[in-house]
Amino acid sequence: MRASNEMLTKTLNEMVRLQTSLIRTEKLASLGALSAGVAHEIKNPLNIIATTVQLLEMEAQVPEESRAQFATILEQVQRAARITENLRDFARERRPEIRAVNLQALLDKTLALVRYEMGLENIKSVTEFPEDPITLMADADQLAQVFLNIISNARDSMNERQAAEPYDQLAAKGWEGVLRITVRRRDGRVVIEFHDQGKGIPQEAMDKLFDPFFTTKPEGKGTGLGLSISHSIIENHGGSIRAASMPGEGSTFTILLPLEEESPGATDILERR
Ligand code: ADP
Repeated sequence: MRASNEMLTKTLNEMVRLQTSLIRTEKLASLGALSAGVAHEIKNPLNIIATTVQLLEMEAQVPEESRAQFATILEQVQRAARITENLRDFARERRPEIRAVNLQALLDKTLALVRYEMGLENIKSVTEFPEDPITLMADADQLAQVFLNIISNARDSMNERQAAEPYDQLAAKGWEGVLRITVRRRDGRVVIEFHDQGKGIPQEAMDKLFDPFFTTKPEGKGTGLGLSISHSIIENHGGSIRAASMPGEGSTFTILLPLEEESPGATDILERR
């Protein structure tokens, strides 16, 4: 009885996990379709505006100051066209381009993008990497996108904490303003950990963290898409991502990825292409 009970509980948990994953994929897919539709609809009127302005420009009696305004209109139309292009790119599910990637170098490169600004905000990054290079079969751009998203979230959270607690109080609690990134090998996988000293994640937010559109950031700052996209990217690479937190003290995001030598995930992707 106990054995079958355990078995049932395990199956039930697995079903809940699969269902959550399906809902997430479904939401992302409808978002993709919606953005592609909107981008397509907007492209036509933008083309008409651009052509009309170009026709007007050709007329001889157009005063000089109007020409400058035409240039502004064209510039802005081009800008809107670029935004719709980006939306389309987001909607188009890009197949991962799998190549050998040096993990430590990729993490360093990603950190270098934000290190200077983090320094201005009193946030330091500390890395603990194994000396010998770890090679993964992965899409470097997509992995960098995941790393940058997690680093940016950690940074936002540490900044929110600095804004909410006076420095003396933070220092007394051992605050060093550190984002620690650790890499190690474990059981044929690589474990990448991002540990921050931010405000932490309340228990009730934990279940929604990887859902599309879940954000606690103000409008214009957060989209709530970062972690859901990161989740799909890591799953497509045959890995997993999870979060743990001590509310008020910080959070840890852990990514597990298969190593090149014995990586069924990466081979899967190669075979599916
Ligand atoms: P966004 O950053 O646009 O809000 P994400 O999907 O990247 O979207 O993150 C969703 C939410 O998860 C954030 O709004 C925040 O509430 C929470 N979160 C993510 N990372 C952290 C972190 N390191 N510390 C605290 N909260 C976090």
